[in-house]
Amino acid sequence: MTILSNVLRFNNIINPLIRSDNIVLLARRTFATHGVFDYDLAVIGGGSGGLACAKEAVNHGARVVVLDYVTPSPQGTKWGLGGTCVNVGCIPKKLMHQAALLGESIHEAVSYGWQVPSLDAVKIDWSALTQSVQNHIKSVNWVTRVDLRDKKIEYVNGLGEFKDPHTVVATLKNGSKKELTAKNIVIAVGGRPHYPDIPGALEYCITSDDIFSLSNPPGKTLVVGAGYIGLECAGFLNSLGYPATVLIRSVPLRGFDQQMANIITNEMEEKGIKLHHRCIPLSVEKLESGQLKARWTNTETKEQFEDVFDTVLIATGRYALTKQLNLPAAGINTVSENGKIVAATEQTNVPHIYAVGDVLEGRPELTPVAIHAGRLLARRIFGGATQQMDYDNVATTVFTPLEYGCVGLSEETAIQRHGTDNIEVYHAFYKPTEFFIPQRNIRNCYLKAVALREAPQRILGLHFVGPVAGEVIQGFAAAIKCNITMEQLKNTVGIHPTVAEEFTRLNITKRSGKDPNPASCCS
Ligand code: FAD
Ligand code: NAP
Repeated sequence: MTILSNVLRFNNIINPLIRSDNIVLLARRTFATHGVFDYDLAVIGGGSGGLACAKEAVNHGARVVVLDYVTPSPQGTKWGLGGTCVNVGCIPKKLMHQAALLGESIHEAVSYGWQVPSLDAVKIDWSALTQSVQNHIKSVNWVTRVDLRDKKIEYVNGLGEFKDPHTVVATLKNGSKKELTAKNIVIAVGGRPHYPDIPGALEYCITSDDIFSLSNPPGKTLVVGAGYIGLECAGFLNSLGYPATVLIRSVPLRGFDQQMANIITNEMEEKGIKLHHRCIPLSVEKLESGQLKARWTNTETKEQFEDVFDTVLIATGRYALTKQLNLPAAGINTVSENGKIVAATEQTNVPHIYAVGDVLEGRPELTPVAIHAGRLLARRIFGGATQQMDYDNVATTVFTPLEYGCVGLSEETAIQRHGTDNIEVYHAFYKPTEFFIPQRNIRNCYLKAVALREAPQRILGLHFVGPVAGEVIQGFAAAIKCNITMEQLKNTVGIHPTVAEEFTRLNITKRSGKDPNPASCCS
């Protein structure tokens, strides 16, 4: 009876506290800094990695502040809270990619029996597109702010820099300064587009920071660079009706499986995109007409070229925003030549200062990577966890008109690491069922699995070019994490008729020399 009444008394006290706010308050006491520091954690950078880390830290009872500030692009573009992905990256890019795919679908719909009054009249309204995209972004900015407020994370809209290892100074919009101290600090400042050092680049060219909110239709566009951003932007612009030309300095999608990269660029050329290989820009000049005259050179033949464009979009990579952080004041000396922070386990040489996301040296510059690393870091700092981020086998997709999704090793890297004799590559061209009626080009739908040759043939890499490649590759990425073998893949029953099932049908090895083209849709 006494035990029961004690339990009831305890429940009466504890139950009202078991509302989420109170749990946070209770837990906060665990980390209360007792006036030594203002916060348990200060996060510099409110993008994918910083916000994920801040939210997870609060779940573990930490008192957290997030600083976020966007310096306008040279063209004057600025945006709200949430970082690159939400404002000028993944999200607007995917929406424009979708707009491009829908445009192509309207043409295909006719062959399925849809009555479209006049295909010639099918045109994109650029300002309606950018308006819709920007409206969505603003709603995400708003939700992000509300979320921070609900979670009791303090948000400071200021540019942060270190004063000493525990003090950060934020310069606010009006120029005033706000100083704050924190026991732990996470640097999550991401990066911004790099501009080549050529006349006219900063004055007249735009980057991915500007394209998604460009006030005028881009028109005929020169894209400089053939990484993810260059190819994705050239792809959606061309499909939206703005002719695109791409300058490729070395190879497209350097670091990716080059057979797959070439399939992607073949498809782009077939869609009318002009690709100039081994070319770098020399200058961009503004003409009286307002158009831009771009000059470039072929680095092998030394031949020079010029053409007139409405827009020149620079996509030559991104640099980390560490210069403005005054890292020496914090004692951080693990910075690479290109300004990125070297921190193997996200911890810098100053033990209470960490870094996550694009600012890290040698890590994939991808949103889910920043988010996952940020969350795990907060759990290690505040939750007593020990799990480290695993940067291997991170899946990714290039959202070109025909998408390319992959996870694991490229064929080249697998051969380099294990030797040709120890690698088996299974491959196939395939025909998506939905491509037949509109008689779409199916030459470039291709997939391959790169595996160890010895049974049970553990799979090292999966590569897929085709529709919805990101959706296809995501589940297989989990399988790769579980060390899937070719034997298990072949024993997986497919879902018919899908494009993803093609992975379960792979049976031709490159080594056999057999024709990888499909015989029929249901063979
Ligand atoms: P960010 O998201 O860049 O956030 C950093 C924040 O810190 C920014 O808001 C910045 O303004 C702010 N900041 C910088 N310095 C300071 C300072 N001193 N004080 C205060 N605030 C500061 N990834 C994918 O996974 N899939 C995609 O499809 C994809 N598409 C992309 C398309 C484009 C065009 C681009 C540019 C990127 C794309 N990415 C994509 C990459 C993805 O956006 C980044 O990997 C991700 O945003 C990195 O997150 P982060 O937290 O490291 O940095
Ligand atoms: P990137 O992948 O590093 O590509 C930069 C491109 O610019 C390369 O083709 C490079 O050629 C070229 N280049 C560099 N300097 C040049 C110069 N002076 N003249 C001509 N060309 C030059 O960079 P990015 O495309 O800007 O993308 C940045 C990061 O954002 C990526 O690494 C990626 O992680 C992320 N991102 C992801 C997605 C996605 O997940 N779908 C989409 C977009 C961006 P070389 O190869 O010769 O160096």
